[in-house]
Parts: sequence; structure tokens; C-alpha cells
Amino acid sequence: MSRGIEKSTLSFYDQQAKAFRQIPRLRILLQSNFAAPCMLEIHPTNRCDFACWFCRYEQFRKEKSFDLPFSPLRQTLEQSRRIDVASMLISGGGEPLVYPWISELLAVSSTLGFRIGLITNGHNMPRGIQELVVETCDWVRISLDASNAETFSRIKRVHTSAFSRVLQNIRSLIKLRSELNCRVTVGLGFLVGQFNFREMADVLRLAEQLQADNVQFRMAEGQGTPNPEIVRQICSTTRSILESCEFSVKTNLAQLPDRIDSILESRRYRLCCVSASAPVIAADGSVYPCCVHVGNPSLRLGNMIEKSFPDIWREWVGRWMKLEAINCPPCSYNKFNETANAALNNDYHFASAAIATDDFI
Ligand code: SF4
Repeated sequence: MSRGIEKSTLSFYDQQAKAFRQIPRLRILLQSNFAAPCMLEIHPTNRCDFACWFCRYEQFRKEKSFDLPFSPLRQTLEQSRRIDVASMLISGGGEPLVYPWISELLAVSSTLGFRIGLITNGHNMPRGIQELVVETCDWVRISLDASNAETFSRIKRVHTSAFSRVLQNIRSLIKLRSELNCRVTVGLGFLVGQFNFREMADVLRLAEQLQADNVQFRMAEGQGTPNPEIVRQICSTTRSILESCEFSVKTNLAQLPDRIDSILESRRYRLCCVSASAPVIAADGSVYPCCVHVGNPSLRLGNMIEKSFPDIWREWVGRWMKLEAINCPPCSYNKFNETANAALNNDYHFASAAIATDDFI
């Protein structure tokens, strides 16, 4: 075990590696005006059994509850595979495991050959769902966001008993994985904000106890631009953990201050390459160019219940270069976009094949 965390950073968190990997596809898009996205993010429902204070979809959920009807979703999945979409992220929007057709969604996606990532609050996981998750997903991330029942309850606005249930589900998933001899990666998510930044070291210790594979830290962005004083405290807490603690679990903690800086930096690039790579299908069937714009009527690209997803995508990539990224709210893709823009302009010498990354985007 090494002092500090640098030697166990997460390749999947490396925005530059992810951007490099997309360059050949983006070049095809620029030359031919069409390339399938590398990943489809699906929010199968906007209902949720939790009420996290930082949720960026709270308003969308309040307006109306939606579950994506499964039949058009299945068609979209089939059409997407036909145009060569390789990966899928099932997340929210809402809590994906309360979606009534979650078993069908996982089974069909796996049969179609998608690589599947799942982000869940980990609360609603009966044994049958756990088995399916372990058997079909490439990775699953449980959004824990706390290291103890009190903080968990305060952040998620649920009863304290929900914390032990989520921990139990994580333990069961990890046990099932070895029983069924599956390769799914089981990680913890920790959105850092004012209520929980003092628990970053504790959650790493908890992850070790649970034998989770990794912990991903990200700034909680759902409530707009982060408070500068909180940002300062988060960065100083991060530095002191890196200097004084030892952990064996993989984590991106060493990258967190840079990641926060990049959210706060003004944009210095022309194209948003994320918006040509990872569209989101929201729970009402609307398609958006990225997760930040879900619910933004001016960037609603169409609805996959009314029109085929490939047609919606074709129309969008015909005009995606007109998107004025400069007008977007702060987002966590600055590093990705800067790297992709530099690479597309041949400012970097790079070899995409040489850079390994486990995540999709
Ligand atoms: S919010 Fe970020 S990822 Fe989304 S379109 Fe704007 S710059 Fe791109």
C-alpha cells in the first residue's frame, strides 16, 4: 500500500483519456456529418424513493412523474445497436431501480450486446435484481454520498435505517459477484458538498471495509455554482487526506481539486464534443444532448416515443456545431472538451489506443 492516493487513481475518471478515445469518432463526425454517439444515457424513470438535496432533477420530477414505456425504449435500444452505439449508462433522472421494467431493460440491453453502467442509490435491490445487475452490468456505482446514517439521512432526506439497508445491498452485490463469478465493478459515488466534505476519508475507509472496488468523488453541482468558501474547504480537506492517509481502494480523490477548478473555469473551446457523444433520453422520452440540459426546452432534440432515435440523432449532429457552449451553465466536462478541441486541432500529439479508460465517457 502506498502513502497517499496517487498510485491508485481511477483511469475511468480521467477526462483527457476519455476525450482522446473519442477523437477518431469525432473526426468521422466532422468529415461525414454522421457518427453514432459512443454512449446512450437513459433515465428510465424520474421517480425516486429518495429526495437528495443536491438533485438537479428535482424540479423536473415535481412537474410530473414519468416511466419510459418499455416498448418504444426497446425499439430505441435495437435501433441504437444497429447504428453502432456500444455503451449505455442507466441512471437518473430518478432512481433507475424503481423503474417497473428494470429487469427487462437490463436483460434486453445485455442481449443486444451493450456495455452497461448503472448508477443507483442502492436502496431498492431485491435478490433477483442484484443477480441481474451482477450478470449484465460492466460497472455499478452506488451513490452513497455519506459515511454514516445521520449524514445519509440528512442529505437524502430519508430515514436513517435506509443507510444500513444500502450497505447491506452493497455487501450482497460484492458477495454475489464472486459466487456467480462475474466481473462487474462495484464502486461508491460521493457527491461532495457542504454537508459531507468532512467525511471523505471516512467513506474511503468504509469502502475498504465493504471491499468495494473504487470511490468516485465529484462536486455536487445540482444547486448551481459552488460556494467559494465551501470549495476552499473541500480542497484543503482533500489535500490533508492526501498528505496524511493511506488507502488501498481506488479513488479519484487526488483529481478532485482540479476537477472543481475546471468546473469554475470559463470555457476556452469552441465545440462541445460531449454533446456529440453522449445524449440523454429522459424519462418522458425527450432526448437531450447532455445530462446538464435535461429539461431545457431549447435543447430538447425530439422525443423517441414519437420519432426514431437515429433520426433524432441524425438531425442533431447536422447542427451540433452551432451549439454555443459558452452559454451553458457550469459543467464538469471542461477538461474533456478542452482536450478534445485541442486534439481535433492537432495541438496534441496523441495515440488514443495507448490510453486505457474503463468508463464510457
Ligand atoms: S452543459 Fe457542458 S456538456 Fe452540456 S452542452 Fe454545455 S458544455 Fe456541453
